[in-house]
Amino acid sequence: MEPRPSAPESLASAPDKLLDGAKCADRVKADVVGRVAELKARGITPGLSVVLVGDDPASAVYVGSKERTCIELGMRGETIRRPASISQDELIAIVDRLNDDPAVHGILVQMPLPKQMNADAVIRRIRPDKDVDGFHPVNVGKLLIGEKDGFAPCTPAGVLYMLQAYGIPTAGADCVIVGRSNIVGKPMAALMIQPGVDSTVTVCHSRSRDLASHTRRADILIVAAGRAEMVTADMVKPGAVVVDVGMNRIPDATKKSGTRLVGDVAFEQVREVASRITPVPGGVGRMTIAMLMANTVRAAAQSAE
Ligand code: NAP
Repeated sequence: MEPRPSAPESLASAPDKLLDGAKCADRVKADVVGRVAELKARGITPGLSVVLVGDDPASAVYVGSKERTCIELGMRGETIRRPASISQDELIAIVDRLNDDPAVHGILVQMPLPKQMNADAVIRRIRPDKDVDGFHPVNVGKLLIGEKDGFAPCTPAGVLYMLQAYGIPTAGADCVIVGRSNIVGKPMAALMIQPGVDSTVTVCHSRSRDLASHTRRADILIVAAGRAEMVTADMVKPGAVVVDVGMNRIPDATKKSGTRLVGDVAFEQVREVASRITPVPGGVGRMTIAMLMANTVRAAAQSAE
């Protein structure tokens, strides 16, 4: 079994409060470049195929940067574009072809899919050993039981990498997660309770009673609710480590685009209380693609075992 990205050297002595996503992402990518070179020497070029259905502009941007990053790191990256009118059967046929192609080590179907499609059926069709997004039920199960040859979803895996890179103690820490989606909140909880990480985890959601009573207990507070700046300073314990996964566009007349990107945490006030905090942008978002690359290179290595 190929190890996960090598344990990062600690950034614990970094003087400022910020948990820098760009710095961490650069480390992951440097690690990937080394592994790609090793695999190429054995005649294997790691390859990621991304399927984009429809013309959602945000998805097009994400997919473009995934392909570009693959190529930048010496991997093979391709995007298969299809119109929103494609049928479920046609999409499944593309997935089947990629499943059977030995040059393709990672497959990612960009979400969201057009409404008429059954996204769960498409995810289940991807071979688990090529499911580098980590959304197939086999990988979800492997994550939960701690089997290391599966793939963890990239965003929560990136958050854990950042915590470890900065030497933040997780063992015995009270970790409170706001959000229970299958993409972020639930896999984040599964990662934080694994032996070796050893946090005590609380997962909050929209039906949680008195959210602040939970968040105020957190040594590590991870917020993935999709609600602009909902976590305010009074909800954070002094000295807590705050990780903001949220990405929300809010109106801002001073910007050319008329909007600006903010997280789920009111950054300026919470940074006064927290010991460490991720900015938005420049925080967790930078890690997601880096971890996708790490998953793809590991899929390639495992395919050769
Ligand atoms: P999601 O599927 O909409 O889930 C949001 C979760 O937050 C739900 O579990 C919801 O509870 C909970 N929630 C919403 N309002 C709440 C409130 N007032 N109090 C407590 N819990 C509340 O979103 P997601 O896909 O997990 O994404 C979350 C955020 O992260 C979004 O801003 C998204 O853009 C961002 N994101 C960023 C990256 C990245 O690369 N940085 C990757 C993925 C997502 P219920 O389950 O009860 O509805």
